[in-house]
Formats: sequence, structure tokens, C-alpha cells
Amino acid sequence: MKILLHICCAPCIIYPLKALKEKGAAVTGFFYNPNIYPQEEYLRRKEALEIYSQGQGAEIIYPQYRPEEYVQATQGKEGKERCLSCWNFRLKKTAQEAKLRQFEYFSTTLLVSPYQDQEALKKIGEDLAAQEKIKFYYEDFRIGYRDAHNEARQKGIYCQKYCGCIHSEASSHKKHK
Ligand code: SF4
Repeated sequence: MKILLHICCAPCIIYPLKALKEKGAAVTGFFYNPNIYPQEEYLRRKEALEIYSQGQGAEIIYPQYRPEEYVQATQGKEGKERCLSCWNFRLKKTAQEAKLRQFEYFSTTLLVSPYQDQEALKKIGEDLAAQEKIKFYYEDFRIGYRDAHNEARQKGIYCQKYCGCIHSEASSHKKHK
């Protein structure tokens, strides 16, 4: 199974990479996250992934960071609708890239997070698979979330404090205060 795996951050790749490798899959990562704000935060998450993936011998593709793509994809959307568009545009790009590069499957590390909507992500992945004519690999990776994040903390891998966008950054800042 040759799979292009959308990666949201370093801690979230730990379990899916392990689980997929155990199944004999050939995994290439795709760090496509123009939703991350500000750029310093994007670079911090990217650097954490570079360090972790090098240690694992995992190949990762890093498309250019263009935050305007997030703004365009979520324009006029609020709350849950904004998150749905945010997941959709990142997974759509992953599906298209996977097709272009002749992968059999695409998937996402967002499926490891208990903070994201698993059913909505599954539906988006399946709809995109039908649209883009490429297979979506679905697995509920949430079982590995806690241990992977503990491992990340022990290894000193950067763990972010908010989902990614300016809105999530502002609400985490508010909660903190
Ligand atoms: S909260 Fe997370 S999923 Fe929702 S729009 Fe912001 S970055 Fe995207």
C-alpha cells in the first residue's frame, strides 16, 4: 500500500506512522497546512516534524506555505463550518497530490486527534476519494493519541497549544488568560 499521508504536526504522526508501517504500508508525508498562524508557529511545527521524520527515515513533502489559501478556502465561514472547509481544502490538496504522484491512497493524521470530528473527516475523505478518483485510507487512529503525545513530550518534540488558525490561537489565548 503506497500512501500519501497528510500530516498536521509532529506529535500526530507518531502513532499513524507506526500503525501503517506495521501493516507494511509505504508512507510519504505531506505537510500541507496553510491554516497555521502565524508563520513563526508554522515554522516551529515544520521544524519539529523535520527532526522527528529524519529520525524515522520518513520522507516528507513540504509544499510552499501560502496562508492566503486558508483565507480563501474559509472565507465567510464561522465555527464548525469553518473547520469543515479547513479540513476539506487540506485533504483535497492531499488527494490531488497523491493522484499526481501515483500513490494508491491518501489519508490524514487528523484521524488521530480526539479534538477533531472523526465522522466528518471520514466523510470528507470518502467524498474526495470519489471526486478525485483515488482511494482514501480510513482508520480510527485515536487509540494511539495519548501515548504518542506522552512520547512526544518525553522526547522534547514541540507540542502546540492550539489547533492552528488565527481563531483557534485567539480562543486558546483567551482561555489561558
Ligand atoms: S480550529 Fe483548526 S480545524 Fe478549525 S479552522 Fe482553525 S485550524 Fe482549521
